Amino acid sequence: MTVTAVNAPATGPSSPPPQDPQAPPSHDSLDVWPASTTRLPAGDLSVGGVPLTAVAERFGTPAYVLDEAEVRARCRAYRHAFPDAEVLYAAKAFLCRAMAHWVREEGLGLDVCSAGELELVVSAGFPPDRIVLHGNAKSPYDLEAALRLGVGRIVIDSAAEIARLAAAVGPRGRQKVLLRVVPGIAAGAHHKIRTGTEDQKFGLSVADGSAQHALARVLDQPRLELTGLHCHLGSQITSVKPYLAAVRRMTGLMARVREQHGVALPELDLGGGHGIAYRPGEAALDLAALSCRLRAELSRSCAAAGLPEPRLLLEPGRAVAGPAGVALYRVLAVKRTRATTFVAVDGGMSDNPRPALYGVGYAPRLVGSAAARGEGAGSGAGSGTGSGMCDATVVGRHCEAGDILAADVPLPSGVRPGDLIAVPAAGAYHLSMASGYNLVGRPPVIAVRDGHARPLVRRESLEDIRSRDIGL
Ligand SMILES: *Cc1c(COP(=O)(O)O)cnc(C)c1O
Repeated sequence: MTVTAVNAPATGPSSPPPQDPQAPPSHDSLDVWPASTTRLPAGDLSVGGVPLTAVAERFGTPAYVLDEAEVRARCRAYRHAFPDAEVLYAAKAFLCRAMAHWVREEGLGLDVCSAGELELVVSAGFPPDRIVLHGNAKSPYDLEAALRLGVGRIVIDSAAEIARLAAAVGPRGRQKVLLRVVPGIAAGAHHKIRTGTEDQKFGLSVADGSAQHALARVLDQPRLELTGLHCHLGSQITSVKPYLAAVRRMTGLMARVREQHGVALPELDLGGGHGIAYRPGEAALDLAALSCRLRAELSRSCAAAGLPEPRLLLEPGRAVAGPAGVALYRVLAVKRTRATTFVAVDGGMSDNPRPALYGVGYAPRLVGSAAARGEGAGSGAGSGTGSGMCDATVVGRHCEAGDILAADVPLPSGVRPGDLIAVPAAGAYHLSMASGYNLVGRPPVIAVRDGHARPLVRRESLEDIRSRDIGL
């Protein structure tokens, strides 16, 4: 089997959509903000009916704001686009107990990849049978928790896991499993998030026969019930084509399973990876197009192979949580060099490692009075011109020169300490990847809805940090 590169180059800022002369300049666009976002006087923005300046005032900064209605609307959009599929939210994008509760109320299942994620959501009342456990290296503790709590399916990712899992299940048990295979498809925005190709750690290769070998062993194992195949191509994929290629590859393999073993597998899990726009003008994966073309391809491929159509499973993470989150920072220092204005904020790579990891771009903006100054109010007071825009680089507070949140972005040239900066599309892979670097403490998560703000996760305090440090 050959590797097919079917990812079209992501539409980026290099190819912006045609400009509407009536539209605000792109630095003032609310395109990638939650749908509830509105402009308020004095440069403030309201999300979920709550002014961002009020969130910063009440809960401090840095803080993450999560628009509950946006999360729910995105879950519903998946249910609507894929009424017959099982949609599982990939919890690793962002997880807290309220998030699990919303996802459950909106009719989605969950995809988790550790005992920690699993225990947290079950403690929030999530039904274990609607949970799928992933992991290329599941620990004995992960498997023990999964079996004890009764997860719906476990995704087998290596040959060694088959016997280990069967032994843990015991002679009287029977566990539903999926097998993760490598379809040999390159897709995704960055090599670190491509998981459908041969040369990475996830899944079992069809090309070298290890997937077929593992399939035979799972089917031979009476304690395991193989319900289907799984593949996950990567992340931040904005084209439908790689998914169509995956359907063809996967149904081809399912047809061979039926020929060789006489089993028609009832499920096909195509993973997640659905891309979102981080900056105005960027493309997102079109859900309606994905649904329509995926179902057509599945029908066609199955008819051609004489296979009954399997039920589809999908695992979006970023596309559910990402656009619903806004990161809020306070400016602590501004340094103007000849070429650049460095705007240093009170967070950084400890709450958002994505720019440093993958070199991704964001569109931060000032909110509140600072933004109003940028529109020409003109404050002067030793802080530049006080009007107009400048080319700024927003950096964090950590002890690394690579701690850059957004390079070369337009900000009002009057930006100064005390100003508030908001970063949209911050709901996924920020806090879930947050670290304890420099003991700054991880920010809180504040849910906004119908004009009310409430904390979902509190700020990590010095006491939290001190209480784990037990050696002295
Ligand atoms: C990360 C991951 C997802 C979710 O990916 P997104 O890009 O957030 O949609 C889904 N399934 C698996 C197996 C994953 O590893």
